[in-house]
Amino acid sequence: MSGQVDIERIYKEAGALLEGHFLLSSGKHSPNYLQSAKVLEDPKLAQTLAQLLAAQIQEAGIEVDTVCSPAIGGLLAGYELARALGKRFIFTERKDGRMALRRGFQVAPGERVLICEDIITTGGSAMEAAQQIQERGGQIVAFAALANRGLCPRVNGSLHESPQCRLPQDIPLFALADFTFPIYDPATCPLCQTGSKPIKPGSRGN
Ligand code: ZN
Repeated sequence: MSGQVDIERIYKEAGALLEGHFLLSSGKHSPNYLQSAKVLEDPKLAQTLAQLLAAQIQEAGIEVDTVCSPAIGGLLAGYELARALGKRFIFTERKDGRMALRRGFQVAPGERVLICEDIITTGGSAMEAAQQIQERGGQIVAFAALANRGLCPRVNGSLHESPQCRLPQDIPLFALADFTFPIYDPATCPLCQTGSKPIKPGSRGN
C-alpha cells in the first residue's frame, strides 16, 4: 500500500477528500478540501500511514531524535509518526495567537527534530513550530506530512521554488501524497460565477 493513487483512494474512502466549493484559510476558493482528521479517525489506518511515512524518512537516512507537531492539526499524525520511528514526541501550540512550546517540553541544543503536520499547505504553522525548536538550539532535520496540499511543489522529492511555500528548500519534505487541486481567486472563481457560495470547511459540520 503505497504511491499516490492509493493514498488518494484512502482519503476519498475516509471522506477526507471533500469535493464542492470551499473557502480556504488563505481567502482563495477551491473545489477540493483535505480533512485529514477523517483519515485519522481510524487508529489502525493512522498507524499504517505513519509507518509508510516513517519508512520514507528512514530510507532517506534522516536521523531523528524527536518529532514535533504544531497543535491541533499535526498532533495525531505526529504522535503516530513518533511511534513508528520509536522517537520522542512533543508539540507546540498557539497561546494568544503566537506559537509556543509549553507544558514543560524541553529541547536540547543540537537535538535533531522533525516537524510533522497532517497536511502541508504553505508550511506556515510548521515554520512557526520550527522556530520554537531553533530558538532553543534544536536542529530541524526534516518536515513531514501525510499529504502535501500542492502549494509546496516537490520535484523528485525536493522542494521546488514556489511563491506561496514558506518551507526552506534546503530541508527535505516527506509526504505520502502530493495533491494538486485548483485554487481560484474569489474574483475569478468559476464556481462563484455559477452562483454557488463557498463553504468554510468546519463551519457546517464538515
Ligand atoms: Zn468561489
